[in-house]
Parts: sequence; C-alpha cells; structure tokens
Amino acid sequence: ETLDKGLEKSGNNFISKMSKAIVGKSVVDEEVLDELEDILIASDVGSETTIKIIKRIEARVSKDKYLNTTELDVILREEITNLLSENADNNNFGEISTQKPYVIMVVGVNGVGKTTTIGKLAHHFKSEGKKVVLGAADTFRAAAVDQLVIWSERVGVNIVKQEMGSDPASVAFDAVQSGVAQDADVVIIDTAGRLHNKINLMNELSKIKRVMQKVIPNAPHEVLLVLDGSTGQNAFEQAKQFTAATEVTSLAVTKLDGTAKGGVVIGISDQFQIPVKYIGVGEKMTDLQLFNGKEFVDSFFK
Ligand code: GDP
Repeated sequence: ETLDKGLEKSGNNFISKMSKAIVGKSVVDEEVLDELEDILIASDVGSETTIKIIKRIEARVSKDKYLNTTELDVILREEITNLLSENADNNNFGEISTQKPYVIMVVGVNGVGKTTTIGKLAHHFKSEGKKVVLGAADTFRAAAVDQLVIWSERVGVNIVKQEMGSDPASVAFDAVQSGVAQDADVVIIDTAGRLHNKINLMNELSKIKRVMQKVIPNAPHEVLLVLDGSTGQNAFEQAKQFTAATEVTSLAVTKLDGTAKGGVVIGISDQFQIPVKYIGVGEKMTDLQLFNGKEFVDSFFK
C-alpha cells in the first residue's frame, strides 16, 4: 500500500490520463489511438516503446471487431503489464541465497538518488535479517562518502571507506574483502556518478569489477543502474551511456512519487531489455519498492 500512497502523489499520472482519454468513447478509432500515442509520448515512454504499445493495441482492436472502450482499458493494462513482464526479473532475491556475500555494484549519475537508494536497499536487506556492508567507492566527492556514512548509521550497517580521492577500486576491494571476513550476506558498492566521457567511465567501472573479482571471481553479481524517473529523456540518455560502459543487470527508478511521467519505467526497461527491480517513491528508508509490473500498472489505474 506504500506503493499506492507514493504514486498517489503523482496524481494525474499517465495511465490515468490514458484511461480518461477513452472514457465515454463508444468505439476505438484512429482518434482514440492517436490520443493514447500522444499521452504515452508526453509521459516519457519513448517513441520506440510507444509505437510498440500502439501497434499491439491496434492488432488486438482489429482482431476483436466489437471492442469498446471498457475493453480497451483492460487491453491497455494488459499490454503494458506484458511489456514490463517481458524484462521482469521474476527471481528478485533468488541469487542472494546462493551467493554469499552477494555483491551489488550501484551505478548512476549524481543527483538521481543513488545514495538514498543504497541506504534504502541496506535497510531492506537488514530488515530481512541479512548482514550488509556498504562500500563508499565514490571517492571523488567528499559529500558522497559523508552521505553514505550517515545512511549506514541511520540503518545500522557497516561501511568501508577510505580517504577522499583514493582509488575507487581499492575501496571496492576492501569492501568485498571485509564482507567476506564479516560473513556478510550483501555488499553494496557505491560508485562515482560523474558524467565523464565514455572511455573513462568504462575504464573506471571495469577496474572496480576486476579488482573485486580478485576476492570473488563472479562478483559483482548485480550491476544496478539508478535513474531518476522524473528526468525523462535524460534518463534514457544515461541508460544508454551506462549500458555502453558496463553490463547493467537491473534498474532502480527513483522519485516516482513526484512525477506524472512514470512512463520512463516502461520505455527504458523495454528499450534496454533490463528489468526494473526497484522503484523509489519517497525520501524515507522505507520508500523503496520491489518492482512488480502488474501492481505498478494497477496502482496507476486506480
Ligand atoms: P545521489 O547524488 O545520486 O547519491 O542522490 P541522493 O541519494 O543524494 O538524492 C538526491 C535527492 O533526491 C535527495 O534530496 C533525496 O532525498 C532525493 N530522493 C532520492 N530518492 C527519492 C525518491 O524516490 N523520491 C523523492 N521524492 N526523493 C528522492
């Protein structure tokens, strides 16, 4: 229900806009589909995914000749849910039980809510009785380390850090090693969020990976890209850059409580074929949700 509460704030969100667009129409015609298309585009679903959704709806409309708008409402939900589930990670925490410690490398640009998401994740795992170690490998910004320390204290988990400006890979190495020594269940590594050029980003992230693999050969088990759900095209651009620089395995989309444009969740997941695993719906440590496509769509339709 936190999800509903969080998303409620976004009020006139895109899915309810789409629902409204078809209310009172007796048949599904060109005009209705055009309107849906406009709403999807305006909600940052992205043009590729929008075309895909409209085509799927068109195909079903032409198959079921006597479709009315109530049925379209159902179809709309189904198609969006299907699209989301095509990339869904149905085994959200499965690997954690087999990998100990399970290492998550968190990437994303500054300001998207990376630190907050790490804090929320730490809380989530801790509340499941898991032992968590954080690694402050964003050594470029003093504030990043400070913020992560504050979160570690708030949540009550250990953190590994070094001096500002030290080698991020060295911090990651220490954190993973410390995780092994402490018999931790989860190690979460923060990384620098500078938008440097692609080669630098690639080099830095691969070095971090290489070095932690000296401790655990198949680490990181997850590379989580954090994106701000309210930034539309910027989020697409960031997804493009990070997926080119490293193998991103999951997405966390933040700030969905404050935006009417949650369409980014659908578009990015579809375009980059990466599952959305978490969504952020507020600033508190409990404001993180395990993403579920059906719940997401249903909460928007309420
Ligand atoms: P970072 O620079 O990527 O590490 O970003 P921070 O974690 O410091 O977050 C930047 C700002 O966004 C802070 O004020 C956070 O409280 C806020 N924030 C993070 N996640 C969410 C969210 O899901 N919803 C809202 N409303 N604010 C968030």
